[in-house]
Amino acid sequence: MTLHAPYDPANIFGKILRGEMPSVKVFEDEVALAFMDVFPQGEGHTLVIPKFLGARNFLDLPEAEVGGYMLRVQKVARAVEAGLKPDGLRVFQFNGSAAGQTVFHLHFHILPMWDGVKPGAHAGGGMKSAAELEPLAARIRAGL
Ligand code: 5GP
Repeated sequence: MTLHAPYDPANIFGKILRGEMPSVKVFEDEVALAFMDVFPQGEGHTLVIPKFLGARNFLDLPEAEVGGYMLRVQKVARAVEAGLKPDGLRVFQFNGSAAGQTVFHLHFHILPMWDGVKPGAHAGGGMKSAAELEPLAARIRAGL
């Protein structure tokens, strides 16, 4: 059902894009915004959203927007790797609530992984403060 519902600009990432809600940003240009996940599944969990308004999920994104957006996803993934030096990285996204999506503005997750460290539950961890996330964001920004 939620796979094809209309885009609702009142979603939390829409509010972050409009500056109505705070976020700990790591990257921003005319195409995309990247910020720290406040319920991280692990240290350095970062989200990359397109500034294009209207795409709830990856299937919705107009083809003309895909290339530019994916370049930013890769750029931020490289910065996470350079800044935090994980052993591995997960880059993933969900489409529709049946797939686990909880915020309906397209986003890719970038989750750094370390050997022997299991990721936390999706959208189920404790909320981190800006003060806790800022030092990680600073290291990722330094990796851009
Ligand atoms: P989804 O479940 O839609 O793939 O992912 C949504 C992600 O957004 C989750 O990982 C969740 O922790 C994160 N999230 C939910 N609300 C907020 C918020 O207000 N700010 C930030 N920065 N992340 C959020």
